[in-house]
Amino acid sequence: MDFLDIKISAYAESHTEAEPELLQQLNRETYAKVLMPRMLSGHMQGRILSMFSRMLRPKRILEIGTYTGYSALCLAEGLTDDGILYTIDINDELEPMSSKYFQSSPYANRIKAITGVATEIIPTLNETLDLVFIDADKENYSRYFDMVWDMLRVGGVIIADNVLWSGHVIKDATQMDDETAALHAFNEKVHADPRCKHVLMPVRDGLMVVMKTS
Ligand code: SAH
Ligand code: CA
Repeated sequence: MDFLDIKISAYAESHTEAEPELLQQLNRETYAKVLMPRMLSGHMQGRILSMFSRMLRPKRILEIGTYTGYSALCLAEGLTDDGILYTIDINDELEPMSSKYFQSSPYANRIKAITGVATEIIPTLNETLDLVFIDADKENYSRYFDMVWDMLRVGGVIIADNVLWSGHVIKDATQMDDETAALHAFNEKVHADPRCKHVLMPVRDGLMVVMKTS
């Protein structure tokens, strides 16, 4: 679903930094070969993730939900030279494709892809995080937020994707399916949390951007 007028979207995209060549290839290969290619962040959102990361210059990034690796490669653009991006996905069938692209990128040695259930992997990471991208199963967003909170440094940022869920979050609660209800609960939880600054950006399918302030 597009929240923005289609001509305005096209204009904004045409005045945004071009999608890097490797990401264009990954975008095309995902659409040609993988189920549900709409999950891939894409040109505009990818450039937004890249920009946030470049502004933060993170040493440690955690991504929950790798898929074919598109958003990981965008987030990696801002890593420090000694930085590491951990990215977790439950689906091992996607791993050959994402790892092929990670290997062809300048971030091959800085991206650590982990296959497994995110709630089991996260507690094993003994790291202080600067940036977290939450983009896996929607029912667990609140859980992921709680799990990463103590690992995130003050001033660190959590970005959660798809928080508008094609607009379903504004439905009457009785009409919400489980994913919609979970995303709405996540948005309410963040909004009520005094330990952070937050903005729900109506970009693509909705990005909740949260900065830990205490
Ligand atoms: N971040 C990617 C898209 C991620 S799509 C991009 O923007 O390009 C969501 C991914 O979450 C899928 O690949 C799915 O396999 C993964 N996922 C779903 N449930 C998960 C879980 N419990 N643990 C880890 N990954 C999970
Ligand atoms: Ca997403």
